[in-house]
Amino acid sequence: MAALPQPPSILTFEEARHVVEGHAAQLRPRIKERVELLASIGRILAEPIAADRDFPPFRRAMRDGYALRAADLTNLPVTLEVIGEIKAGAAPETLPRQVAAGQAAAIMTGAPAADGADAVVMVEYTSLSGQRVTVTRAVASGDNIVAAGSEARKGQVLLHHGTRMDYGAIASAASAGLQSVSVFRLPEVAILSTGDEIVEIGERPGPHQIRNSNSYSLAAQVQDAGGVPKMLGIARDEAAPLRRLIEQGLNHDLLLLTGGVSMGRYDLVEQVLAELGAEFFFTGAQIQPGRPVVFGRVQERYFFGLPGNPISTMVTFELFARPLLEALAGMAARELSFVHARLKSEIKTKAGLRRFLPGLLSGEFEQAEVELAGWHGSGDVAAMARSNCYIVIPPDRERIAAGEWVAILMR
Ligand code: AMP
Ligand code: MG
Repeated sequence: MAALPQPPSILTFEEARHVVEGHAAQLRPRIKERVELLASIGRILAEPIAADRDFPPFRRAMRDGYALRAADLTNLPVTLEVIGEIKAGAAPETLPRQVAAGQAAAIMTGAPAADGADAVVMVEYTSLSGQRVTVTRAVASGDNIVAAGSEARKGQVLLHHGTRMDYGAIASAASAGLQSVSVFRLPEVAILSTGDEIVEIGERPGPHQIRNSNSYSLAAQVQDAGGVPKMLGIARDEAAPLRRLIEQGLNHDLLLLTGGVSMGRYDLVEQVLAELGAEFFFTGAQIQPGRPVVFGRVQERYFFGLPGNPISTMVTFELFARPLLEALAGMAARELSFVHARLKSEIKTKAGLRRFLPGLLSGEFEQAEVELAGWHGSGDVAAMARSNCYIVIPPDRERIAAGEWVAILMR
């Protein structure tokens, strides 16, 4: 029997997360492909996208109203001569000539402000009578006009390389006239469940058997993080077949294993990986759920051994596997960010571990509060289904009172 990684290294949550981030920072995907703009949703940009002209390209009216000189509105009400109308899309040669002192031009949102006018007064503060408009409210110079190039100058980078395309990014790319964009190839992530008691979801489980939910939750998380799941099925708790499947998994960009990393007699995952020459960066983290989580590498291929309990698998993917997968996908690193909410009812626990417990955030506006989803341990997928976040309990806390602010990690 090959030696297990010695000594086992159990890190704090922060240490373990930093180890993963350190490795993630070294990864540079190289293979790119061009995809249609809409197909780029969720993909990672492989090239920066720059403004192809000034944004906005002309001085743009932000309101329907009258373009005029702000200095004309010192004594209100004031009546000005209306010299014409400017619609959105009006070509420059059709614009009214210069707006002079004592004059105004009717203008619509999105239209170019006439030369000479330095502000737009909203139509709500005016009344029109024939060719004359009476204005009842003052504006400052620049009000309701967006200066040309004020949002972005021609050539300025709108989206950096490494950006994940979301609807906001799609808007920027569309504004710059891009019908297709260059993105990184999607990394392939092998998913291997282990355990003699685990059966495929299409099979009828015996009374002693458990359906394989982990391969599916992981596949969903992989897709969400920008990877393509490759399902390797279920490995029995036997070294030889486990080894064959692990070797197969190591042909992909990343290998995720679930189960078989605890201290049981048939927890063979670390042993088999050690036989394959794995380096182990950590073999546990002081967290709950997910304490036996393993991170390492065989030659240049990374793997995670995630504990088999379904909630542990899900949590450890989010905390550790996601940042590495995002880096393999080419995404710029981002910090783990927490939001805060008031605790609805007291939590009692033991000190020593940082806990990520399924929580339920509810209540609108200032009434938002969070409570435990009432779980029965790290196998409780039903509690997970009732929850929408994780409540994060620091390792030095044993009791958190109702009404205290707690950190939560959104799902
Ligand atoms: P292990 O980490 O192998 O000790 O497994 C811990 C617990 O998670 C056991 O109760 C397993 O039955 C359960 N488990 C392991 N793998 C899976 C899986 N793929 N789907 C659902 N439950 C699992
Ligand atoms: Mg097992």
